[in-house]
Amino acid sequence: MALGEFDLIAKYFTRSVTRAALGVGDDCALFATSPGTQLAVSSDMLVEGRHFLPTVAPQRLGHKALAVNLSDLAACGAKPIAFTLALALPRVDETFLAGFAQGLLALADQHECELIGGDTTQGPLNLCITVFGEVPTGQALLRSGARAGDDLYASGTLGDARAALEVFRGTLSLAGPAFESVRLAMETPQPRVALGLALRGVATSAIDVSDGLLGDLAHILRRSNVGATVEVDALPRSTVLAVLPIAQQREFTLAGGDDYELVFSAPPERAAEVRDAARRANVQVTRIGCIESVAGLRLVDQAGRTVSNSYGSFDHFKT
Ligand code: ADP
Ligand code: MG
Repeated sequence: MALGEFDLIAKYFTRSVTRAALGVGDDCALFATSPGTQLAVSSDMLVEGRHFLPTVAPQRLGHKALAVNLSDLAACGAKPIAFTLALALPRVDETFLAGFAQGLLALADQHECELIGGDTTQGPLNLCITVFGEVPTGQALLRSGARAGDDLYASGTLGDARAALEVFRGTLSLAGPAFESVRLAMETPQPRVALGLALRGVATSAIDVSDGLLGDLAHILRRSNVGATVEVDALPRSTVLAVLPIAQQREFTLAGGDDYELVFSAPPERAAEVRDAARRANVQVTRIGCIESVAGLRLVDQAGRTVSNSYGSFDHFKT
């Protein structure tokens, strides 16, 4: 017999909590934040066909649902504490639930982020997570702090998730191992939480790249009332991307989407601290350009020549 709603919650989503005072099972969860901190809160919803393909393994989907939320905490320099999970499921499929819960909770454990509640209902597959983190009062990394003269940086590599999507769409063909590696980037992004924490007090602004580098960087520029030049040949890319035609490399790194890397600014005199933060967080960080007082976003190549900017950013209501 299929599990009922409450059995399902008990079996897959109820765990003892240690940081929170009260977890799953009552009308509200309860947890306290440390003195002198602010609560950082963010929600991200994943809809089948929109944010993930039906072919994704349940374990990877569980990972990604939490990863994209943790990525927002990372971009604020907040330390994860807890999360809630609102789920609409077409049916009770225990193979799906077991894999999903495993991927979700493994990433949660890795970041000591506790599942403290949620909601479960029948309906088209839809996953909505809200994460709670904490950050010392006044120290959150914001989109609004970039200043002319700052260097611009990106973590990890950009464009792999987009390459995987294009393989699924049938517009790109990659050899088996190359496809597996970009597919892993698309399906199991690694939220840069440690980097975000290490950049507190060093970066002047930060954002996580979910809709494409240029689109997300534009949010920093608008909020900070500045412009920028991005060096397109300096953008960090994987060995898989580096052998694609140059036009495709540019499209995927500049406007790929689903990267979940951090893009941030810092004054040149803090460059050593940026490198130190990257080392402590064990992630690659690359300087990709600079912040300028002149509004707008300019692209240049290795030789300093202007590259035309005709790249779009993902918008759910415009595509
Ligand atoms: P209520 O009717 O008061 O909203 P529910 O019956 O929906 O409560 O949920 C019972 C308990 O199970 C609550 O503590 C709720 O937070 C938790 N819960 C429900 N769905 C999930 C889920 N998918 N993951 C984690 N906890 C859940
Ligand atoms: Mg409810």
